Order: sequence, then C-alpha cells, then structure tokens
Amino acid sequence: MSRLIDSGETAAVLKKHALVLKKRFGQNFLIDARVLERIVDAADVAKEDTVLEIGPGIGTLTQALADAAGRVVAVEIDRDLIPVLNETLAAYPNAEVVNEDILKYDIAALAAQAGGRLKVVANLPYYITTPIIMRLLEDRTPAQSITVMIQKEVAERMAAGPGSKDYGALSLAVQYYAEPELVANVPPNCFIPRPAVSSVVIRLLLRTEPPVRTADPARMFSVIRAAFGQRRKTLVNSLANAGALHVTKEQVQQALRDLDLEENIRGEALSLSQFARLADLLPAKRQ
Ligand code: SAM
Repeated sequence: MSRLIDSGETAAVLKKHALVLKKRFGQNFLIDARVLERIVDAADVAKEDTVLEIGPGIGTLTQALADAAGRVVAVEIDRDLIPVLNETLAAYPNAEVVNEDILKYDIAALAAQAGGRLKVVANLPYYITTPIIMRLLEDRTPAQSITVMIQKEVAERMAAGPGSKDYGALSLAVQYYAEPELVANVPPNCFIPRPAVSSVVIRLLLRTEPPVRTADPARMFSVIRAAFGQRRKTLVNSLANAGALHVTKEQVQQALRDLDLEENIRGEALSLSQFARLADLLPAKRQ
C-alpha cells in the first residue's frame, strides 16, 4: 500500500473499511503532506528514539514516524480502527498498536524501556488536549519532548507571557514543566473532516529542573489558580476570597509589599518567579 498521505489514499481507506468518523473521539484526520513533514521535523525523531503516538487514527502520522524512529508505540482508543491500522502499518514492523485510552496507558513503563529516548508525538483529539498534556507534564513523564497538533487558541494560552490576554494558569503550569514553542499554523482544510477551529503544531521541550524554586509547588499552583479564578479582581481580593488558600487580605498586602508590587496589581501581571516568591511569603495552609 502506498503512503496514506498520498492523494486519495486516506479517502480510499475510509471507504474500504466503511469508516464513519467519530466526533466523540475527536477524529479529524490529517491529509496534508507538508504539515506531516513539519510535525516529524519538529519532533526531531532519530533511529535511537522510541515514539509514543497518541491517537494514530488510520496511521498517517504513524507511517512517517516509523520511517524516522527506532520504535513507535501508537495508542488508539477506538477499537474499530485497530484492523485498519494492522493493514496500513503492515509494512512497518517497528510500529506497534495498542488499543487503550491514553489516560490509562502506562507511559512510565514505556519510558523505562526507551532508556531516556522517548518522544511524544500526536495530532491530539481536541476534546481532551489539556488533560492529556497536563498528565504528561505533572507525572513528569521522562520524555524529551512533546510535539503535538492542538487548537490554536489552546497553544497560544500555553505559550503566553505576563500581560497577554491569553496568559493564565495553563501558561504557568505548562511553562513550569516545559519550554513551549509554536512551530506551525495549520488551517482546517488540512483535515478530514474539517474542524471548526484552526490548529497549531506546538513543541514542548521538557525541563529537567523547574525554572523557579518554591518551598511547595502544589501550594504555588493553588495560589496561581486562585489568582486567575476571578480575572477582573485584584490579586489581593482574588487570593483573600479563595477560601481554600486560608489567607487574609492583610497577609496578601504584606507579601506584595515585600515583593515591591503594587497593592492593586492583578494576577495576569505576575511572572512565574513572582508567583513562586509570593507563594513562599504567604503563610502555609493550616493543617
Ligand atoms: N493521528 C491521526 C491523524 O493525524 O490523522 C488521527 C488524529 S485524530 C485528531 C485523534 C485520534 O485520537 C483519533 O484516532 C481518536 O480515535 C484518538 N483518540 C481519541 N481519544 C483518545 C484517547 N483517550 N486515547 C487514545 N486515543 C484517542
């Protein structure tokens, strides 16, 4: 069989297997050869690498990854796609298909087998983009990079800095664990069916050390969530009103003075290192 990305091949496979694409699994299949090449290039895959592909669909990206990598493990939730993948990947003995939900798959075991050379690559199902990426980051998956196609709006939030309208808790969480880089814009006509939104290929280079030090990262993230929970409020009001933090207005005001920050500052003006210092200055949560 020729490569799936070649003209008409994807449509032929869908027709042959009488596949009805499932919206509930976020099935928008890539049909653009240049975008495929940009993803594989950005992922910088070599023969020493193991690639975890999330949601291979009918195997379009999987074929290109298998050409570049030593081993590809493709985890697909939709069991109706497994016989299709067995066929489209028959000529790629280094590609393995696993029929499982990626949120339940044991990524740590695969990382151990990969011996430090694991890369995650995917055209992600948009309905669970953030949970998948946050799980990979928070579990400190020992991968080198995560190169994924996601909605443009979510990619911009992940990469945003202080003061931007897109900056928020997601930007800070992603940037604590990784360095994000927007690689390519991808319009809806590069998929079948066309999604309602534009997409972006984003590469997250995983950090080996966090970029800031804080006594209790979980406490810092509680402060960050509270700071952005009520966007139009000042930081003092947002934090003092967030019952779960157990801090008073006066304590937040004092911490802001210690940091040389204005009393009426809003959360969106603070950098990650300022949030880290703020969290350390606030009294620890009562037991
Ligand atoms: N990689 C293919 C491509 O680029 O054409 C398909 C990408 S499509 C946007 C997303 C794929 O992820 C679909 O095949 C879908 O069935 C699969 N998927 C959705 N939820 C999943 C989950 N929780 N775990 C694993 N795969 C999932």
